[in-house]
Amino acid sequence: MDGAGQSQSGGDPGFAFDNSYQRLPDRFFERLAPTPVKDPQLIKVNEALAEMLGLDVAALTSKAGVAMLSGNQVPEGAEPIAMAYAGHQFGGFVPQLGDGRAILLGEVVGRDGLRWDIQLKGSGPTRFSRMGDGRAALGPVLREYIVSEAMAALGIPTTRSLAAVMTGEYVFRDGPLPGAVLTRVARGHIRVGTFQYFAARSDVEGLRLLADHVIDRFYPELKSAERPYMALFEQISARQAALVASWLLIGFIHGVMNTDNMSIAGETIDYGPCAFMDAFDPATVFSSIDQHGRYAYGSQPSIAQWNLARLGETLLPLINTDEDAAVADATAVLEKFPTFFSEVYFSGLKRKIGLLQDDENDGALVTQLLGLMRAAGADFTMTFRRLCDAVAEDADLSELHEMFAPGNPEGLTAWLDAWRARGAHEALDVMKRREMMLATNPLYIPRNHLIEAAIKAAETNGDLTKFETLVEVLSRPFEEQPGMDLYTKPPLPEEVVSATFCGT
Ligand code: AMP
Ligand code: MG
Repeated sequence: MDGAGQSQSGGDPGFAFDNSYQRLPDRFFERLAPTPVKDPQLIKVNEALAEMLGLDVAALTSKAGVAMLSGNQVPEGAEPIAMAYAGHQFGGFVPQLGDGRAILLGEVVGRDGLRWDIQLKGSGPTRFSRMGDGRAALGPVLREYIVSEAMAALGIPTTRSLAAVMTGEYVFRDGPLPGAVLTRVARGHIRVGTFQYFAARSDVEGLRLLADHVIDRFYPELKSAERPYMALFEQISARQAALVASWLLIGFIHGVMNTDNMSIAGETIDYGPCAFMDAFDPATVFSSIDQHGRYAYGSQPSIAQWNLARLGETLLPLINTDEDAAVADATAVLEKFPTFFSEVYFSGLKRKIGLLQDDENDGALVTQLLGLMRAAGADFTMTFRRLCDAVAEDADLSELHEMFAPGNPEGLTAWLDAWRARGAHEALDVMKRREMMLATNPLYIPRNHLIEAAIKAAETNGDLTKFETLVEVLSRPFEEQPGMDLYTKPPLPEEVVSATFCGT
């Protein structure tokens, strides 16, 4: 495979590590270096992110830099560890999971003043690998790179992708596949499952250390709260509710919302079998391992709340020494979740159709639209994008009508009339509302068939051009880009990808 041109200059990329998680007790992790790979070749470095992290891009793409990104060389100041965690997988509790194929190198404070984890994923076996090989295949690495960076460009909290490299080795899944390593950057890799790991061992001291670390790092304003651990549970719940609402608002399906894949920092994490929905249907499931639809699009809010209930259970001994009182306190917080979620979700839906003012019928208006979309199997992304243009008085509505043709055309006409009548009560003028809608409703999303095509080209003949183009187009999702019409389109019937596979 052609790697992206590797720079000849050597030098140090300049990771300014300051590793706070490694200062926690030894039972929080295993210290070990990544396992070297045979022949590392750079696929891509995310230059904008590298600069944000204060790194030297030329050094990062040099031979020495690529050695670091593949795990062949541990950068100065890194203290590599595999983190311990547990988790509920599809509802069943596993007391020990942990980083079975990832290694946290350390933390870097970026130019934004925030602390960022630098992690290699696919970096070899650890104590937590169980039966796995500790490696990642090229396809899932490209998928995570594409989707995580698209999410960031859409303004959704997410882990980021700093780089992808080929290992020059094969991994064996159903058959041999090229291996790769992703460098993942996150506000943190602490999960609901990290709390569960200590709770399952009745390690209250560990729980307290973890909770204090989380407060220090992600929620420092809570240090002075009257009841910091209650406040922590509430803030984590609020961030998670807002995150899941933002997923629903762009048609994202995480696919494997196990408690070990729910970040305490409120970021989208673990892009395994994730996918964006084309035709709107809340029952949509893509993941091949989600046979009962536990993690369907429309189930994501209730699953998030279920996961938070598991988090709440781990926090009980910190919340109150009286167990009954602790349960009552945690339950009161948990019951706020639907309100946290609905506020962000409904205001987001309203924004998507260009409404900012309050009107008691707005909830019904957005619900009716979703009902029509579902009945017609209308494309989620393009429906909202077409509505941006439909806001103008003299708009041509024919494309919208075409999208809804198989469903209920009279229903759409009636809805458009009601929506326009309601729009007339907005303070913003039509053009301003259109602008706001265009900045809210993306034109380009990482559609599954486009991702699959990019992966296939890379896997079968080392062609990275589709991957490169997709990443480029998705970096400006709201802005119409000339010549990129293909990237706006839902799949043709023969292009539909109905299942995605977990990235193992
Ligand atoms: P995931 O489904 O990717 O969230 O992973 C769930 C658990 O399985 C985590 O503990 C991972 O570290 C572990 N795991 C997944 N794939 C592998 C692999 N190829 N080798 C070792 N551990 C793995
Ligand atoms: Mg995971």
